[in-house]
Amino acid sequence: MNVLLLGPQGAGKGTQAARIAREYEIPHIATGDMFRAAIASDSELGRQVVPYLAEGRLVPDELTVSLIRERLGQDDARDGFVLDGFPRNLTQAEALDEMLAEIGRGLSVVLALQVPDAVARERMLARGRDDDTPEVIDRRLVDYHEQTKPLLEHYRTRGSFVPIHGDRPENEVFAEIQEALERAAVA
Ligand code: AMP
Repeated sequence: MNVLLLGPQGAGKGTQAARIAREYEIPHIATGDMFRAAIASDSELGRQVVPYLAEGRLVPDELTVSLIRERLGQDDARDGFVLDGFPRNLTQAEALDEMLAEIGRGLSVVLALQVPDAVARERMLARGRDDDTPEVIDRRLVDYHEQTKPLLEHYRTRGSFVPIHGDRPENEVFAEIQEALERAAVA
């Protein structure tokens, strides 16, 4: 099961991706978590990306794509994965298409979690991460609309695309995701 989860930050992607990963025993691959881990361990990558995360700007595609390429090549991703936070723009989406084609795999399902900006903003403020200040949140929402939202069109015509209304209790959202995954599994 190769799952891609799209949606603005604050849509509940991380929470839902973690549940999918547990339920289907596949790794949860979240670029944001990987960058934060790199920063915490003060690695070369961490030092490179720290200003981008602090300001809520997208990390350059080269760094992000090579991180994902390496991660998808690891053993635990052989039987599937749930991607959260990648791709964030068309260049990354095209790189992912190529990577998957190279290894003869496709996306089983693309879940698009949708919530209004006001809800996304409120949820980000409530979780209170270092980069969840009002200015940085706004910067990320602008990037989402300009760069990530066009991906909905990219995926709408490819594979199994499922819009999910995310402004509801976590369990309801997850139940709908499970239905979509069950349908994808038998397709
Ligand atoms: P997230 O945890 O998904 O909210 O991501 C936190 C931050 O990591 C973002 O604001 C970006 O600076 C960076 N980031 C995460 N994923 C990507 C990506 N696919 N492309 C570029 N930057 C990313």
